[in-house]
Amino acid sequence: MVPEANPDDFLFLADDEDASEATDHTVGEWQLLIVDDDEEIHTVTKLALSDVVVEGRKLVFHHAYSGKEAVQFLRNHDNIALVLLDVVMETDDAGLKVVEQIRDELKLEDTRIILRTGQPGYAPEESVIKEYDINDYKTKTELTRSKLVTTIIASIRSYQQIRTINQNRIGLQKIINAGANLLEQHSLHEFSEGVVTQIASLIGLDAEGVLCAQIEDDGSNADSIYVLGAAGHYAPFIKCRLERIDNKRIIHQINDCLRSKRNIFTEKDTTLYLGAEHHGAAVYLETNRAIEDFDRQLIEVFLSNISVGYENVTLFQQLRHAAYIDPLTKTPNRNEFTCLLADTRQLGAQDSVAVLIDINHFSDVNDGLGQEVGNELLIAITQRLVQEFGNDAQIGRIGADVFGMIGSEQVLTPQALDALFLEPFQASEHSLQVDATYGFCRLSESSEQGLTILKHVYIALNRAKKNISRNYEFYQQQMEDETAERLALLRTLRQDFAQDRLQLWFQPQICLKSRKAIGMEALLRWPQQGGGFVSPAVFIPLAEYSGLIVEIGAWVLQQACMQLKELERMGFKELRIAVNVSMPQFRSPHFVESVINCVTEYQVKPELLELEITESVVMDDPKVVISALKELQSFGIKVAIDDFGIGFSSLSYLQQLPLDRIKIDRAFVNDIEKPNGAAIAETIVNLGKRLGLHTIAEGVETVAQERVILAMGCDEVQGFLYAKPMAKDELVAFIKQQKK
Ligand code: C2E
Ligand code: CA
Ligand code: CA
Repeated sequence: MVPEANPDDFLFLADDEDASEATDHTVGEWQLLIVDDDEEIHTVTKLALSDVVVEGRKLVFHHAYSGKEAVQFLRNHDNIALVLLDVVMETDDAGLKVVEQIRDELKLEDTRIILRTGQPGYAPEESVIKEYDINDYKTKTELTRSKLVTTIIASIRSYQQIRTINQNRIGLQKIINAGANLLEQHSLHEFSEGVVTQIASLIGLDAEGVLCAQIEDDGSNADSIYVLGAAGHYAPFIKCRLERIDNKRIIHQINDCLRSKRNIFTEKDTTLYLGAEHHGAAVYLETNRAIEDFDRQLIEVFLSNISVGYENVTLFQQLRHAAYIDPLTKTPNRNEFTCLLADTRQLGAQDSVAVLIDINHFSDVNDGLGQEVGNELLIAITQRLVQEFGNDAQIGRIGADVFGMIGSEQVLTPQALDALFLEPFQASEHSLQVDATYGFCRLSESSEQGLTILKHVYIALNRAKKNISRNYEFYQQQMEDETAERLALLRTLRQDFAQDRLQLWFQPQICLKSRKAIGMEALLRWPQQGGGFVSPAVFIPLAEYSGLIVEIGAWVLQQACMQLKELERMGFKELRIAVNVSMPQFRSPHFVESVINCVTEYQVKPELLELEITESVVMDDPKVVISALKELQSFGIKVAIDDFGIGFSSLSYLQQLPLDRIKIDRAFVNDIEKPNGAAIAETIVNLGKRLGLHTIAEGVETVAQERVILAMGCDEVQGFLYAKPMAKDELVAFIKQQKK
């Protein structure tokens, strides 16, 4: 691919003492190593070659004075074009030893070698010359200046050819790989990168400052140009929009080239057009010099050859498109986004973050206004994301109402994202105000695998959803550890529940007037293998989160009804049992029916069963909860509101709720002796009176607390002062003993 040396050059050089290829401008250098134990040879050689220019490049000389020194030097310099090597130095064959090491040990196969010796008798065997790829062997007397120059020019040219061939081989290998892996995800990018490397090597450039771009032709983003492949310092921009490269010149040249569909050669750079009518690509090379005619021809032949390959690749790419692009928003889908995460991570993502944006209450839009409007909302959100961040970040749709972005942490901040949602979105005739929750993950702090990164961002997102004080969270390693722990705990809970290892304990509730138990609260206990219990405060939220609470809750109800029956048999016909109910139970279908069935099956009086619900359960979905409770109450079942007073937000619902009893939260009982501490408890008791409800104080631990509570006019209590939660046998003993 590179011109053969013209024999006339050599003749000319041989005849003319002053011959050289010196020209006015030189670009680059050739590195030469002179190895000789005779100081004078160094001086003379350098002098003789001082103004020689080969292929427009000057010579740079390095010096070594023994074989050992030469090897040492070459160990650290793999860019030496030519070694002028003395044979006899510290030993008779020191030079030959160096040759052996250059080829066998240092594996420098491109470097050319010219052997020199003062004594004809020390000439190497022909076999050595062949085996070690030695370019020339000369006795020093043989080497006149012009002969030396000739030999050197020939050797350097052969060095250049070898280099070019090797580089071409690398570039070709990439193109071949791209072809072979057409169906693999990265084929187009690999192919593009191969093209870039190949062209660079054709014209003797390092594969640097080069990129490839294409007009997306799916109709949606007619103007978008993407970087498909790049080498050198533009590599981090692969798959980004072209505008992200902060270089006006490149953007301009590529646009120009794609528009005109032709190659553009200038003094500074070369931009080449590749491909067919519809999906063209442009290859940009920073050459910093004009490309010579010969090289232009070479490039043009090459381009026409690979255009066919390019068309094939893009064709496959389009077939694949369907699997990697979300059809609704025309942005990368979850699969492609996962690849993008891995790619960005791999290309050194110092300040890159991945973020997931979850639209809050999206299902309300879908359910309330219909799927059509829902879709339009998603498109409107995508458009705004692209408009604000399209140049700085990559955007994809990861789930129904979850978007993903990758970009700089400086740009993708929670504040910047919040700003996006300030204005309403237009979806058909509706103007919809939505907000969102974000999970972030710094790529440098995550794994190399795209799927793992995605998992990490999801962990952050789920954390953010649970957070009430703010709408975003950054992933931290410790979150995952906690998640893993929670999952392990959940697994054992499931097992233990299936093997009937959970227990239901009871804490008596006392009437202060009679000092007798009037009922009890059923409380779950999860015994551990080595003794002790896992706190319900730990495992109940887990069971709620996983939905397991629905099954457990049904079991609790059964146990409670059985206990009621048992107590009745023993003659305690008026004792009631309060059972805690969680939100997922209300959400599960047939909840009301299952409670009523349970009561009927065990033939217990419905008014002896009380359901305890917290304010947060009511607030979570007031409509569902209120209607379920009304139905249960009309069947005779009692309802208590638990932990009352923590959030007064639900006061407005209080009148709508079918209630029988208010439980004053332990926190207020605890504060009751402090100055002004009784105010809230007192307000609750008065509220209860006004609404005609009973009030019960929870967590009474001291006689002093009891006194204040009694003074307020609250006469039901539950707390350690009277009895702790206990297993059913203990409970029976407790009640029997009270009766005496
Ligand atoms: P909760 O419904 O507020 O239950 C009262 C909690 O206060 C119980 O904690 C009880 O042991 C504790 N307690 C009672 N008197 C005192 C006292 O004088 N001092 C102190 N310091 N604490 C007292 P426990 O048993 O650890 O239960 C914690 C939470 O777990 C319960 O809070 C409830 O929300 C939940 N839970 C327990 N069992 C069930 C169940 O069967 N279903 C559901 N959904 N939740 C349950
Ligand atoms: Ca309770
Ligand atoms: Ca409570």
